[in-house]
Amino acid sequence: MATTTGTPSLEQSVQYLKGVGPRRAEAFAALGVRTVRDLLFHVPRRYEDASTVTPIGSLEVGMDATAIGEVVSKGVLPTRKGLRIFQAVLRDPSGMIECSWPGQPFLDRSISKGDVLLVTGPIRFFHGRQMQPREHVSLGARGATGGPGDGFGEGEGRVLPIYPSTSGLTQRLLRKVAARTLDEFGPLLRDEEPFSRRELDTVSAPPLDKAIELLHRPASLEEAERGRRRLAYGEQFFLQLLHARGHHLARSEREGTAFRRTGRLLKPLYSRLPFDLTEAQSRALREILGDMESERRMNRLLQGDVGSGKTVVALFAMLLAVESGRQAALMAPTEILAEQHVHTLRALLDGVPEVPLTLLTGRLGAEEDRRARREIRDGTASLIVGTHALIQETVDFQRLGLAVIDEQHRFGVRQRMTLARSGTAPDVLVMSATPIPRTLALTLYGDLDVSVLDELPPGRRPIRTALRGERARDSVYDFVRGQVREGRQAFIVYPLVDPSEKVDMRAATEEFERLGRDVFPELRLGLVHGQLRGAEKDDVMRAFSGGEIDILVATTVVEVGIDVPNATVMIVEHAERFGLSQLHQLRGRVGRGGEESYCILIASGGKEGRERLRVLAETNDGFEVARADLRIRGMGDFFGARQHGLPEFRFFDPERDLELLATARTHARSVIESDPDLAGKGKERFREILASRYGERARLFGVG
Ligand code: ADP
Ligand code: MG
Repeated sequence: MATTTGTPSLEQSVQYLKGVGPRRAEAFAALGVRTVRDLLFHVPRRYEDASTVTPIGSLEVGMDATAIGEVVSKGVLPTRKGLRIFQAVLRDPSGMIECSWPGQPFLDRSISKGDVLLVTGPIRFFHGRQMQPREHVSLGARGATGGPGDGFGEGEGRVLPIYPSTSGLTQRLLRKVAARTLDEFGPLLRDEEPFSRRELDTVSAPPLDKAIELLHRPASLEEAERGRRRLAYGEQFFLQLLHARGHHLARSEREGTAFRRTGRLLKPLYSRLPFDLTEAQSRALREILGDMESERRMNRLLQGDVGSGKTVVALFAMLLAVESGRQAALMAPTEILAEQHVHTLRALLDGVPEVPLTLLTGRLGAEEDRRARREIRDGTASLIVGTHALIQETVDFQRLGLAVIDEQHRFGVRQRMTLARSGTAPDVLVMSATPIPRTLALTLYGDLDVSVLDELPPGRRPIRTALRGERARDSVYDFVRGQVREGRQAFIVYPLVDPSEKVDMRAATEEFERLGRDVFPELRLGLVHGQLRGAEKDDVMRAFSGGEIDILVATTVVEVGIDVPNATVMIVEHAERFGLSQLHQLRGRVGRGGEESYCILIASGGKEGRERLRVLAETNDGFEVARADLRIRGMGDFFGARQHGLPEFRFFDPERDLELLATARTHARSVIESDPDLAGKGKERFREILASRYGERARLFGVG
């Protein structure tokens, strides 16, 4: 029989721990816990303490409360309507209360007389006080917790940890196993500590082994919080270390020289602009030109809401490159956007002499394509506009000095690195129309310096945003019809491409049929979604942009990649399915012309979902929307953050830990500054952790 022979190791299987065994090991595996290390890091998801638990005798109708008591009787009641209700009476020394779970008769099998339950839910009046628990946790049989008297185990402190659990593992068992494992293996964590005592002191965090101990067995909620902070710091520090390394590589690997301002092009552009730059634009421009004129490569993010005027800022930067004798490239996520950029730039450049502009997209004929590539290669082309393929493919630049990348979220860290290490190693300016709060910007784009356009040009009309339910559908369609009659165009966006059996939701393809047949037979409808081939997608977008389509039925593919000033209505179906920031992004597809524009969010479902959407009706400020989104959904879900390659944080809390993040960033940058390759003494552990957490990226950056 295998037992824990030999030296104890954090990598050994939980199966052989006392009280576990093969069956429970399987249950642990379902929680992602396979090794002793996993178990130590399987920390409680929350805690209850005397300040959060109300004595049963003090529960009052109208409260929403948590209580702990022993089950003294239980049973399933049928009702006249055929609904079966599980009921249990809980008792603590202060009194008794009835708990009721309508429609959950099956609980009768898992809850027994004598069990101690922790219940949370509203207290209402029903033949006396009654709780309808939203949540219940079985703390084990009586005695396990030191009796229902106070609900807390003897010698376990006054704080009750609640672990993420699964069937087959009671809270009592989890606590026991955790306690034993801490005693036996906890000290091994001391060898894993990557930080010096002094550094931990600056963030008032305990060392790793102590932090894990505090998370499992805190004497107070404050202690648990101290433990969490230590782990949150670790999460952020290593991410920031990786960012700092990326920043270092990008900034230092310049082969060319600094750009020199002569004024030859910038001056005429400036004097011919039909408007004054906003304060924010001027500030961003100073930061960008400053970077470009320095000896080191620029690696900067220009962040600003839709319509904040990023293009003109980018044009100034591009002209600085050109007047210094270099080429500048602007890359858009789609071919249509690239074409639109060419129009915009031509208009802005009207009257600025000698700036040859070349468009390179997949749509050029063979002859034109050859010519464009030749111009780029021999340097005849100064300003080059294309898609991201410009860099990813084999386009030969004669002397590329600046690459501007529009719409960041299709262009990740890896592409930026490739660019930084390419032969030309141009300065990089990334433009993003996704306003993100500072915390998220630092975690997502920590390798970039950031400029923010937090101000819209004057005179912008806000997009009028309304929330509507299913019942308003006909009047919404009438409204669309009215707008089209006035010559405008509309988007109708759905979360799904095709109908699904799993969820009852309207889907784009089916609705396209229905709308064309039953609702708008007299109008011209188009359909676009992510499953179309690139060229098909472009054809539809182009037809919409050219006014040949009145209503574009779509999925979120229209979120980037189209700019149609004549479109004034954005309708989003099942708006409750989308994040606020994504809805804001969709809304930004309208309001680009002079006409009053509208965004109508059709939402079904509960009040809670509708409440969330109200933020959009109340503000047009993308940063405010983003903050609300982050607050509501947390970091992981924020605007499909995972898609950005954002690691999942288990401990970091973007709301509470802004200062911690700043410290982690400062420290990480100073470590890289003094030892860019992490080659020095004591950095071995840093490299190990980077390699295990960030595998490929750490290798790409040469530190994994
Ligand atoms: P985005 O940041 O969304 O890319 P654009 O660069 O497309 O925004 O600018 C949106 C519109 O605002 C364009 O028509 C542009 O010419 C105009 N614009 C940009 N800056 C200003 C300004 N300072 N004053 C007035 N209009 C401006
Ligand atoms: Mg733009």
